[in-house]
Amino acid sequence: MARFTKITASVGPSCETERVLKQMISTGVNVCRINFSHDTGDTQGHKIDLIRKISDELNMPVGVMIDLQGPKHRIGNFATEEKYQIRPGQTFTFDTDETPGNANRVQLPDMDVIQSLGVGDRILLNDGKIEMQVTDVTPNAIRTKVIRGTEIWSRRGFNLPDTDVKTSVLTEKDRADLEYAITKDPDWVAVSFVQRPEDIAEVRDFITARTSRPIKIMAKIERKMAVEKIADIASIADGIMIARGDLAVELPYEQVPAISRHIIRECRRLNRPVIMATQMLGSMVENEFPTRAEISDVANAAYLRVDSTMTSEETTIGSNPVNVIETMGKILSYSDADAMANPNDWVRSENAPENDWSRSVSSMAFLNHAGAIVVFARDTISTTEIACRRPDVPIIAVCDDKLIANQLCVLRGVAPVYMPDLFAQRDAFAVAHIMGIESKQIVIVDQDQVSLHSLD
Ligand code: PGA
Ligand code: MN
Repeated sequence: MARFTKITASVGPSCETERVLKQMISTGVNVCRINFSHDTGDTQGHKIDLIRKISDELNMPVGVMIDLQGPKHRIGNFATEEKYQIRPGQTFTFDTDETPGNANRVQLPDMDVIQSLGVGDRILLNDGKIEMQVTDVTPNAIRTKVIRGTEIWSRRGFNLPDTDVKTSVLTEKDRADLEYAITKDPDWVAVSFVQRPEDIAEVRDFITARTSRPIKIMAKIERKMAVEKIADIASIADGIMIARGDLAVELPYEQVPAISRHIIRECRRLNRPVIMATQMLGSMVENEFPTRAEISDVANAAYLRVDSTMTSEETTIGSNPVNVIETMGKILSYSDADAMANPNDWVRSENAPENDWSRSVSSMAFLNHAGAIVVFARDTISTTEIACRRPDVPIIAVCDDKLIANQLCVLRGVAPVYMPDLFAQRDAFAVAHIMGIESKQIVIVDQDQVSLHSLD
């Protein structure tokens, strides 16, 4: 198993056919992300069915992660499809009037958000290209002063970097989407614009009221409040996505790399998988080759030992999604191998408590040059904890439950295998052999028993 860093691929129009999706999965996709910001209902359900079919045919576990749009706010419509120029210093008003907008005002369809806004808060439109500051809030209107201006047009999204948004993290649309998605048995649900741990609890309650399937929750970190509460959010969520797209709008972009490192450290400490997302190979929407900066970005994610990198538009609307996966896989494999060639990094990467059992497993494998750690995984807990020690030794998770195998797909260095028979026999060497591990030493984890085994 050459590659330790996993690939989460967003599935969209460019890769929805069985042929392309199958090629992508065989090329190295570990988790498929289905974004409900775009399609909903059966269009998305069809993709999930297709992924399950391909996964069965290839006999390869693939995680299915549905991604809820969350409270992404949008402005209303303008008179024409024309663009309006907004200039610094001018005033601009958002109101409840459905009359098409002009250069001085526009409707805000989702007025609930007004309850949360305060004087002095910033409103960022169009990926932050327009910045406004709230000067006055009345029950039916928000008046602002434009700080930075450019063109504006219908239905642009906006961010509220200073505002504690009081509405639920699940919009009406999210509730309907989640209700539907649950019927399709996903492995993960990603929640957008999380602000606080209570948001995750709310989603968890929504899910457990509807299914007994233990669907895992991925918190997307893209708001300042979420960064401030990362430890509490990571503790209650099952995984974290560093959503750099909105994060770089809501916070000064120069802070995003430092924040990413902080989040990765916290995830490792709290035993949570972490996904690095957005624009990793963005130029490959059109281009055959990545830019030098993108190559470095993907490589650095491997050196930082994230669990998974993610593709967005480059696979959803890109001209060659299979090429994107191949490119990402190639960069990750090479960088993973290089990172592992330096054992000092391994020592420094340890930050679990001194006597933590998962640390002992990791040390045992490392110090004895074991070829693999084989875990008989009844649930996701032991495998997740060991993977978060970043042992730099392949972890083979033998699962007798497909859901567990799918959920483990996101974890760094973990090769989940669905093998109910071998699970019963507990023949770790047979499994290691099947997985191409030739080493004579392996560490076996079976419930709370950890042991080092030699083939001879
Ligand atoms: P999105 O999330 O693609 O759903 O916006 C990722 C991000 O914001 O980076
Ligand atoms: Mn986002």
